[in-house]
Amino acid sequence: MSLPLQIFVSCEHASNRIPEPYRHLFAGRETVLKTHRGYDIGILAFAEALAAAFNAPLLAADVSRLIIDLNRSLASRTLFSEFTRPLPGKERQVIIQRYHLPYWQAAEDIVAGITLQNSQVLHLSVHSFTPVLNGKVRNADIGLLYDPARAAEKRWCLNWQSELLAGQPALRIRCNYPYRGNADALVTSLRKRFDEDRYLGIEVEINQRIPLEDRAHWQNLQQRLIASLRIFNRLSAAIK
Ligand SMILES: [Zn+2]
Repeated sequence: MSLPLQIFVSCEHASNRIPEPYRHLFAGRETVLKTHRGYDIGILAFAEALAAAFNAPLLAADVSRLIIDLNRSLASRTLFSEFTRPLPGKERQVIIQRYHLPYWQAAEDIVAGITLQNSQVLHLSVHSFTPVLNGKVRNADIGLLYDPARAAEKRWCLNWQSELLAGQPALRIRCNYPYRGNADALVTSLRKRFDEDRYLGIEVEINQRIPLEDRAHWQNLQQRLIASLRIFNRLSAAIK
């Protein structure tokens, strides 16, 4: 028998906030905070709309990834940025304790709580990516990232892709692009704790060109993404 499906939305790069004790690290370079390096431009509004539409728990960062990257494990070389990596080990520990551990614990508690209610979790970790990186144009509007070793995640993404394309054939949707779905990330870590009949960890990546250039298109796309998920939510049995 298939379990009911409960969505959980998270947004690890929602904020470009630099807490007061760390502002001096950015003196003279504050403009970086307004770029894709400071946060995932445009994505928090979508995370909020998605969570509201499905009455889903929402976990969103309130600190910039340039302080600490909440979508990296503690072992990652890119956990800290060029601004925070040079800090003494003790100060980096404070940042981990203050921001990373509570966020990851909250994510794990939310997933565990849903599985205790005998539901399967559809964790949508939402992000946006810069349209051009190191001079290379990224030719997708939406990326759906899953672990190729988890058949249920793959099936889910392919189904979602075809549902989205049915309504809007011109959309460029690519799987495991612009990043691999099994790279170091919050979902990758949660997969180690919860098996796939309990937990689907999908990262949704939106091209920042859309929220930056065309507000109407962005509003429309958010509604399309939500509407297409509603269909699957009703048919949650189909993904098992
Ligand atoms: Zn991101």
